[in-house]
Amino acid sequence: MFDDVLHRLGLSDVNSGACGRGWISWPSGEMRPSFNPATGEPIARVLMGGPEDYDRVTNDAVEVFASWRTVPAPRRGEVVRKIGLALRENKDDLGMLVTLETGKILDEGRGEVQEMIDMADFAVGLSRQLHGLTIASERPDHRMFEQWHPLGPVGVITAFNFPVAVWAWNAMLAAVCGDTTIWKPSPETPLTAIAVQNLVNRVCESEGYPGVFTLCAGEAADVGEAMIHDPRLPLISATGSCRMGWRVGEVVGRRLGRALLELGGNNAAIVTPDANLDLALRGIVFAAVGTAGQRCTTLRRLIVHESIAEELIGRLTQVYASLSIGDPWDESTLVGPLISEAAVVGMMEALDQARAQGGTVVCGGTRLPRPGHFVSPAIVRAHPGMAIAREETFAPILYVITYRTLDDAIAIQNGVTQGLSSAIFTDRLSEAERFLSVTGSDCGLANVNLGTSGAEIGGAFGGEKATGGGRESGSDAWKQYMRRQTCVVNGGSDLPLAQGVRFDIPS
Ligand code: NAD
Repeated sequence: MFDDVLHRLGLSDVNSGACGRGWISWPSGEMRPSFNPATGEPIARVLMGGPEDYDRVTNDAVEVFASWRTVPAPRRGEVVRKIGLALRENKDDLGMLVTLETGKILDEGRGEVQEMIDMADFAVGLSRQLHGLTIASERPDHRMFEQWHPLGPVGVITAFNFPVAVWAWNAMLAAVCGDTTIWKPSPETPLTAIAVQNLVNRVCESEGYPGVFTLCAGEAADVGEAMIHDPRLPLISATGSCRMGWRVGEVVGRRLGRALLELGGNNAAIVTPDANLDLALRGIVFAAVGTAGQRCTTLRRLIVHESIAEELIGRLTQVYASLSIGDPWDESTLVGPLISEAAVVGMMEALDQARAQGGTVVCGGTRLPRPGHFVSPAIVRAHPGMAIAREETFAPILYVITYRTLDDAIAIQNGVTQGLSSAIFTDRLSEAERFLSVTGSDCGLANVNLGTSGAEIGGAFGGEKATGGGRESGSDAWKQYMRRQTCVVNGGSDLPLAQGVRFDIPS
């Protein structure tokens, strides 16, 4: 079954990981198998790009940018519309491949492809709305306005857990804005990237625009580092851990480039005594164990009022005991595997630290005796001072902390370095408003009566503090892929100066 899927997506046993205007047939990087995390077995091999391949691909992206930027934006949108159609036609296969390579359940694999389709649709509409402001000038007969021009080739670095949706957040917007993109996917998930590149190549070639989207799958140490140091790339959009973001921000900042950073989170939900607990339960479980706890927006800290803590923990424990954990392509499974053995070890080490720091594991937290990287999601009774609960462990561990006053709960929630997603469950309006107020949640995303994960593409996505401050996908995120120009035209015959300055030269 999987062989057919790979074949239809243009994948074979050995695949090139580098593509500029066309595939580089024998890139210089290592041959790397991509593994199925549900079995630990290889799916297919990828010949990774090396620094020379990166250079070739980027030369293509630079050259293609020179002409792509002059194509009218609605025409660029038409190319993106056709990419959306190609994604629709291949949604099931691509969703299956996402599941195969990341281990996320099939519904989420398909959901990820739907997110790409949504991004394509959004970008098509945007291609007729890349508009600037007209601003009142203080000088008579002067007209002041803003216009937005394409920025240049954009480096897009993505994480393993959303191997294709995050590329679409960037690449669909960048394309209608007139930019070309160079994609460096996670070395854990190169096959999904190659399959997507095959699809967009087909569309771009038939539309007469090869090389608008390019790819260089490679390691952080060579391809990644070459990309962030490269002055040909005015924007680096990087998604991944805070550790990676610190490095990218520093290097790109040093060359005064733009860095759009989407980094780790340590997301919390507050549950007040006025919450609808049935609804809260559903929201908490999806956010805490969905994608096996491997979303940047995964719920990691549950901050519960002390009067309802025992009841809520009891109900959560019951649900956790009945979670179906197993093959991600089995439609009844809710929790698939972690991405790698290292992720399993990381989870077990975090639980050891939690115990050593005074936490109690209420349920879960074991490795399952079967091939692949399966664990049972854990609930840990914790206290706000526990250092491990202030870190992001990329696995399904939910720390439960109790509170007495809402002010305390908000302080606990905000008391971490990251600032991505947050939520409150309450039916009391004043509590919801307090949470959303200026002294409430300090995160980029703040939800009332829904969990921390599962954002729509229409809003600007991203977080504050150590999450990096970037905003991607919806709202006005497109502006980051363009350069703004403020223009003034003097339509009169006099030359009045701003601020009333006089500068009369002798006649
Ligand atoms: P990671 O940081 O290990 O790697 C992410 C990407 O960065 C990979 O492509 C990697 O090769 C690249 N990279 C690492 N060091 C680099 C360097 N010095 N130069 C250039 N590239 C470099 O992250 P991961 O394990 O793949 O993903 C999980 C992390 O990503 C979690 O922390 C998660 O919260 C975060 N994430 C954030 C968002 C968001 O939107 N905020 C979305 C998805 C994932």
